[in-house]
Amino acid sequence: MTGASKPTMAQYNCLNCPGYCCSYPVIPLTKRDVERLAKYFKLKYDTAKKRFTREGHGHKYLMRRKGDKHYGRICQFFDTKERRCTIYHARPSTCRAYPGSGRCGYYDFLMHERRCQNDDTFVAITNHKD
Ligand code: SF4
Ligand code: SF4
Repeated sequence: MTGASKPTMAQYNCLNCPGYCCSYPVIPLTKRDVERLAKYFKLKYDTAKKRFTREGHGHKYLMRRKGDKHYGRICQFFDTKERRCTIYHARPSTCRAYPGSGRCGYYDFLMHERRCQNDDTFVAITNHKD
């Protein structure tokens, strides 16, 4: 969810990653996250809720997604050309917290695959369980 990386502490760098975590099928939002999006886009709460979220997987608010050439589906707010979040300052709390300090499993996998392929643009694919 592009952006939790702190290069001096973390063992991953989201700037070198095509944004795998933004393709997770379940990106839950809180009511506060929806309020933040509504404010950011200058929309009424109900409009933001309808436009940006859907119910599913036991969650009242799930991030809507769109097509992506690498991962199939990805967050609606992801720039699929620049491979980055377009609402960084208004992104949901889940995105802010992910993946925590330390390591990102996908980043380790990606770097390993890129070394093996000798290709620093290689995009490693792994299936979500949904
Ligand atoms: S809001 Fe931004 S950081 Fe969060 S999943 Fe979407 S594109 Fe990624
Ligand atoms: S998968 Fe990991 S390295 Fe890639 S954008 Fe997400 S947190 Fe950053």
